[in-house]
Amino acid sequence: MAITSELQHTVGKTAGFSGTSLHTGEKVSLKLHPAPVDHGIKFKRKDLQDEPTIDVKIDNLKTVERATTLGEGAVRVHTVEHVLAALSAMGVDNAIVEMDANEPPIGDGSAQPYVDLIKKAGLTAQEQPRKFFDVREPMHVESKTGALLVLLPDDTFRISCTQAGPNNRFAQFLSTEITSAIFEREIASARTFVYYEDVQPLMEKNLIKGGSLENAIVVRGEAVLSKEPLRFADEFVRHKILDIIGDLALVGRRIRGHVVAVKPGHAANAELARVLAREQARRSAMSTPRAVPLGDGGLDTDEVMKILPHRYPFLMVDRVIGFEGENKITAVKSITINEPFFQGHFPGHPVMPGVMQVEAMAQVASLLLFKLAKTTSRIGYFMSADGVKFRKPVLPGDTMFIHAELTKSRGERLAKAKCHCVVNDAVVSEGELMFTFLDK
Ligand SMILES: [Zn+2]
Repeated sequence: MAITSELQHTVGKTAGFSGTSLHTGEKVSLKLHPAPVDHGIKFKRKDLQDEPTIDVKIDNLKTVERATTLGEGAVRVHTVEHVLAALSAMGVDNAIVEMDANEPPIGDGSAQPYVDLIKKAGLTAQEQPRKFFDVREPMHVESKTGALLVLLPDDTFRISCTQAGPNNRFAQFLSTEITSAIFEREIASARTFVYYEDVQPLMEKNLIKGGSLENAIVVRGEAVLSKEPLRFADEFVRHKILDIIGDLALVGRRIRGHVVAVKPGHAANAELARVLAREQARRSAMSTPRAVPLGDGGLDTDEVMKILPHRYPFLMVDRVIGFEGENKITAVKSITINEPFFQGHFPGHPVMPGVMQVEAMAQVASLLLFKLAKTTSRIGYFMSADGVKFRKPVLPGDTMFIHAELTKSRGERLAKAKCHCVVNDAVVSEGELMFTFLDK
């Protein structure tokens, strides 16, 4: 039975190792650093100016061809699935993965070097509980290439995987619970395997300069080529399980559920991670309390007006219900028939204008930004709104919950926030807003 009160963990101290990167063949060193509660896993590119970081989350997934690439802006990190699998399975919730290249060391093509590294760094319990994604009903994704991933409710995290190569050669099956002990013993050391026909064109284009029989098993026809003999008779399916764990780490929560995977690959794994993240976002939006609490880390109308310059009838926030971590806020606005816009929008058929919902999102996002900046001497100006959608009409008598999440803040002058409004447990509007700050 799972323990719901499990605590978040970070690494006990900084630890690192160096090796060769798969694609460029160059030397790369990687360091794991401790990070605070609710930080999650972030990659840091030490080799670039300003040392940019990339959050490990599904929104930052860029490509899934052969390996998993994350990116923010122009910055990329490639082949992150093995280090993520080790961090996730070994119980590291919060850490900075610092690298001086765009790819971690490939090591022996397994997650073993990362397990060794995490053990060297040690684990430290933190003061907040872990976040879980509980599978409540069956979910599934299917790809054109024949991959099928089904997720079923379970008290633990389990994976049952069937792997099969071209013409069903090397068909293998394994079903196991994933705990740190089982991962370390049964999964971590399973190496990457490739089919000769897939890698030959890449070798010719010189795209895998660091690839060798020391960090991958090459299957050519019926022959299995590698420097070292197979570590398990079913090493391939074990590596497929390793990749699933790494790709599902993009959900940002520990999964309680049973993954049943048939011929999985990075694209299908990532698609499942996307489905889970979307479901989690929906649940978070739904979890708005029906009774609006006072106090409790929120802001009442008076406090809101001390921060926002807006006044009736243009103040679109009644109260802030609460903040979550550094970058999330939920506020509430009661929509009454007395709103001035209902007089003309429309006579005899009152509907809240969509642009007023966007204004509400902008005001709530500003409250978050001012809280972060700890100053009210500047005013935020709305610069752009992307992906704005109005899904359902908002009517007199509705209570509108406004959620904003800061997704990017560049210096003190620019910020981006993902926002959505919820009425009666349904998202009524959403959009991504960008702001700039100017002195008042
Ligand atoms: Zn892999």
